[in-house]
Amino acid sequence: MTVKLYYEDAYLTEFEARVVRRLELDGRPAVMLDRTAFYPTGGGQPHDIGWLNDVPVLDVLLDETSGEVLHLLAGPLTEEHVTGRLNWERRHDHMQQHTGQHILSEAFMRVNGAQTVSFHLGEDASTIDLDRAPIPAEELRAAEDLANRIVFEDRPVTARFLTPAEVAQVPFRKPPAVSENIRLVEVAGFDWSACGGTHCRSTGEVGLIHIAGVERRGAETRVTFLCGRRALQDYRRKEGVLQEVCAFLTTGWQVLPEIVRKMDEERRAAQRQLQKAREELAGLEALALLAGAEQVGTWRVVRKVFADREPAAVKQLAGRLLEHAGVVVLLGWQGPDKGQLFLGRSADVPADMQALLRQVCGKVGGGGGGRPDFAQGGGMPADRVAEALELAMTFLAGGAGSSL
Ligand SMILES: [Zn+2]
Repeated sequence: MTVKLYYEDAYLTEFEARVVRRLELDGRPAVMLDRTAFYPTGGGQPHDIGWLNDVPVLDVLLDETSGEVLHLLAGPLTEEHVTGRLNWERRHDHMQQHTGQHILSEAFMRVNGAQTVSFHLGEDASTIDLDRAPIPAEELRAAEDLANRIVFEDRPVTARFLTPAEVAQVPFRKPPAVSENIRLVEVAGFDWSACGGTHCRSTGEVGLIHIAGVERRGAETRVTFLCGRRALQDYRRKEGVLQEVCAFLTTGWQVLPEIVRKMDEERRAAQRQLQKAREELAGLEALALLAGAEQVGTWRVVRKVFADREPAAVKQLAGRLLEHAGVVVLLGWQGPDKGQLFLGRSADVPADMQALLRQVCGKVGGGGGGRPDFAQGGGMPADRVAEALELAMTFLAGGAGSSL
């Protein structure tokens, strides 16, 4: 079994060891040492990284049955005696998050009795799942306050293995999952947990504990939190965003909510005005088109091809034109390669637009359908749209509506 130096001293960053086994894992060399300060993934805490001599250690795994620690290497390691060096920045970050988790979990226990059912130390943020939902905002704030009070009090944090007799005497937050070799991590006078992870030596070293988010998951609540350097980085990032927005709006952050609300109201009002103006414009455009309409018997026929607007806008214009009596619309839309046709008539015009569209499509291609008073077609070549409308006009005038 590998001697686990990280149990005795979480601050050990360099150590001497001997290679006791060499093997291959996922096509990479891996070694077991007689002793190691490299923490293997477990208990919610990710593994350490670092170097054995000059070879990078990529992953560290624990064989649960043998108790051996496996170091996955980036390249071959030939020496038998090695110097191990940890990436301390990463390890210390894990220590801050992990110790912070013990404090926050106990803070929830004391504030609302919520038990932590799982812990995950992530790349960017860490989470605990609490056996309670929902958790009101006041309780979240109270737990955060209590956790930070424990930080400010800078209480000692110690870790040691217990004898079976001692186990019964410890007021564990949660009963230990194992029955022997129980390691107690104690936040003096506050929290007693069975844990094999690496922790800071005092609560002050954890730094600020910040609840960054909560998410309800059925009967549980997932609390996302940041400790120490991560909390500082989060503060910086958010302040950066605020400064950027404030510079853009040339205002102070305190008035941002008020300003954003006002901008939103103005935007909505402008949208309403724009919509109204568009409708008025469509009405006026309809009138202008009617003034230039061709006369077929008693009907006013509006024939035009549009390429400068969306088909939906052409259809909308047709609708406005057909609000008038005695009107037939033969509108076309010319797209980049295909065209569309909108053929319609007022309620008092006895022509069949569906039949007209069928006749036209028979000549220029494409297809479509609709009702006797309004038909819509598409799929014909874009350069035949004008021709299609001319044809429609001819059919309409020839039949004078009667045969259509
Ligand atoms: Zn722990």
